[in-house]
Amino acid sequence: SQTEKELLYKIHEIANDFFQDQMFETEEGKTIAYSYFKERELRDDIIRKFQLGFAPEQKDAFTEFALDKGYSKDILEKSGLSIFPENAPRGIDRFRERVIFPIHSFSGRVLGFGARILRNNVKTAKYLNSPETEIYHKSQVLYGLNQGKQAISKNNLCLLVEGYMDVIALHQSGIENVVSSSGTALTVEQIKLIKRLTENVTILFDGDAPGIKASFRSIDMLLSESMNIRILLFPDGDDPDSFSRKHPQEYVENFIKNEAKDFIDFKAEILLKDAGSDPIRKAEAIRDIVKSVAFVQNALKQEVYLKEVSNKFGLSEQSLFNELNVQKQLQK
Ligand code: ATP
Ligand code: MN
Ligand code: MN
Ligand code: MN
Repeated sequence: SQTEKELLYKIHEIANDFFQDQMFETEEGKTIAYSYFKERELRDDIIRKFQLGFAPEQKDAFTEFALDKGYSKDILEKSGLSIFPENAPRGIDRFRERVIFPIHSFSGRVLGFGARILRNNVKTAKYLNSPETEIYHKSQVLYGLNQGKQAISKNNLCLLVEGYMDVIALHQSGIENVVSSSGTALTVEQIKLIKRLTENVTILFDGDAPGIKASFRSIDMLLSESMNIRILLFPDGDDPDSFSRKHPQEYVENFIKNEAKDFIDFKAEILLKDAGSDPIRKAEAIRDIVKSVAFVQNALKQEVYLKEVSNKFGLSEQSLFNELNVQKQLQK
């Protein structure tokens, strides 16, 4: 209901202040969380801009704080910020001993949180996120959109990265036209949010196997929504965060501009890696590329892309066109 939504917004605002106070105003927060961000070389203005915070070790720190302020168990549970296990006397916090990344709506309201462990540790998930609530629908939110929307319009380009720290690190190096779907597969709703600002997207994912897989999926999604795309994977285990801390802004900007490829060159490079002259591998790669071309929504653009494939692989346009029609039928 409307009043329940208002309460959920309010409690997220209070939680957001609480997590920031915990980081800046407590010994625990200063020694554990603030120093963590400093180790990751974040400046104070960037920590403030993204309203980063800290959830302390005490199991019920936030839950008790909010109950004291008069919030009900019911609304705390619905917010996803507290958990009330059966048979337990009191509630516990969802986020404990983690640094906190608030997730904002397009217009800047806090909808939920991402939370990262402080030490990499195989036993615990590295990031923990708010669950779906009445105000937080993961599939409809992009991290960084609020902070980046002006730059996205101004540059007429949206950079798409994998994680929270990638968005933040790029801002720190002066590149602000960036969003992240934060670990979830890109959705149509998210693409429509970007499309209000620009039709141009450059995908900047990690160069590892999950990054490649996610980029292939995102390519087809973005083409289906008539977006113009370019793709760049970072080399040698880098992601935008680590890369942008190694190089100055201008270098990063030029690297993105010069190294990002169109989806045909990108897919060809990945799919033909170690294929040698194996004709079967080559045919599979071409079919996979034509499959992506089939997602392109405009017949003229499709033809231009097919010409590119034809030139690249020395195949007749007719046979590619036949394959395109097969793929289009399969997509229906
Ligand atoms: P960091 O630099 O802090 O180690 P990252 O952003 O480079 O993190 P990746 O492993 O590349 O981490 O993951 C990209 C994104 O996927 C993260 O920012 C986060 O949003 C999401 N993610 C990663 N691991 C998990 C997890 N265990 N559970 C949920 N989401 C996760
Ligand atoms: Mn990764
Ligand atoms: Mn990463
Ligand atoms: Mn990283």
